[in-house]
Amino acid sequence: MRVLYWFRRDLRAFDNRALSEASSTSDRVAAVYVLDPRLLGVPDLAVENPRISLVADALLKLSSEVELHVLHGRAPEVFEELLGRYRFNAVYTAKPISWSEEEVVDEVREVCSRNGVKLVEVVDNVLVDPSRIKPVGTFTAFYRQWRKLVDTERVGRVRRDRFAGVDAPSAGEVLRKLGIDTRRVWLWSVDWGLRRVELFDYSSYSRLRDYPHLDGSSKLSPYISVGAISIRELYERASGVSEEFVRQLAWREFYYYLKSRYPWMRRLELKPRMRGIEWENDEHLVEAFKEGRTGYPIVDAGIRQLKSEFWIHNRVRLVVANFLVKDLHVDWRIGEDFFREYLVDYDEVLNAGNWQWSASVGVDPVPIRVFNPIKQVEKYDPDCAYVKKYIPELEGYSCREIADPLTHKLRGYYEPVVDHYERVRKFASLAKMK
Ligand SMILES: Cc1cc2nc3c(=O)[nH]c(=O)nc-3n(C[C@H](O)[C@H](O)[C@H](O)COP(=O)(O)OP(=O)(O)OC[C@H]3O[C@@H](n4cnc5c(N)ncnc54)[C@H](O)[C@@H]3O)c2cc1C
Repeated sequence: MRVLYWFRRDLRAFDNRALSEASSTSDRVAAVYVLDPRLLGVPDLAVENPRISLVADALLKLSSEVELHVLHGRAPEVFEELLGRYRFNAVYTAKPISWSEEEVVDEVREVCSRNGVKLVEVVDNVLVDPSRIKPVGTFTAFYRQWRKLVDTERVGRVRRDRFAGVDAPSAGEVLRKLGIDTRRVWLWSVDWGLRRVELFDYSSYSRLRDYPHLDGSSKLSPYISVGAISIRELYERASGVSEEFVRQLAWREFYYYLKSRYPWMRRLELKPRMRGIEWENDEHLVEAFKEGRTGYPIVDAGIRQLKSEFWIHNRVRLVVANFLVKDLHVDWRIGEDFFREYLVDYDEVLNAGNWQWSASVGVDPVPIRVFNPIKQVEKYDPDCAYVKKYIPELEGYSCREIADPLTHKLRGYYEPVVDHYERVRKFASLAKMK
């Protein structure tokens, strides 16, 4: 039996269930990755985007371990060509966990069925198959079930000699031809991620995770999102050491569960009473936000971190997202699209779910949760080390002044674009007014 394996967001040869299942059904597996922009959430491959570089890095790493062929184009067309040229009995792949991926996989399924080839999807990259969760409405109830169902059984590495070649160029050749430069991943390389899984101090996580100036969170989200590390290995390292870390892994899967139950949450508010808000979407405020000149240093620092490192600390993501929605009265979907442009760890479902949560239109049981950008600095960046790292021009100011730009004028810096207190009061009526 000849089997074709389609890598997508599972870019590893070890502990890869779908790949392992494919190789158990056939002596030889031909492995491909298709550079289809839709799978990367980009308009085309020519754009400067950190995810393209990270995927390129992961593909080069993977091709040192398996015989991998990288093809470029729309996935259904690539498969039409491949299935016409070679005789495969089955195509194996990991089950998609995003709307865009599902759409692409559906198109490929059609091509497969037209060619009389079976498409087999294997659930992986989660600790619990979302379809095993009985209906729940809150994270706490989800977590209770999820914790009991966690499945950590690992599978072995698929050896290089189990792969067969197809007549297609290697990863390196394709990436070179497309001008995709993996050196752009100066900050985010798969080798760093693999070492980080081993070396991260899980025992300090709950104590340090909320402070953006410290190296207290794992920074593993980019590698989880492309599947370069094993979620089961990560769980095993954290379990028994940091329940808080395990809870975060569960949040990730809670959003996947919600997506499977409420597929329309991609663009529609989960809370029915929060639909149809008349967002102001003031263009000047949107621009000030996107350019990091709101006059609230913690918000602006977050945007500068996003644009320079393609990642933001979770605490600051919460502050920034809250500010856009509750202070600037901008539609959360605009924030969601903005993050998609820059985040190296962009995940369609996690991004939508977290933006909904931050906008108080999703699963947060608190009706309207407000993050005060002044108090957040006082509590989580008490020396302003984080703010000053990204906004060095504020070096000369005391942290008390930086934290509260409404009370203290920061000469030479942007004036606050809105009054936080006034705007959050107005948001409450905006949300109720509809
Ligand atoms: C507005 C907004 C948008 C976001 N968009 C994304 C996104 O596109 N992709 C993404 O991976 N995360 C997203 N997050 C969640 C979270 O901010 C990141 O997962 C986290 O900051 C990654 O850093 P870390 O790896 O150091 O996390 P750690 O604190 O070390 O946590 C370990 C892992 O748990 C998972 N995790 C942690 N927090 C969350 C969470 N709130 N929701 C879901 N999973 C979580 C991640 O896989 C993370 O790598 C978003 C959060 C907000 C508020």
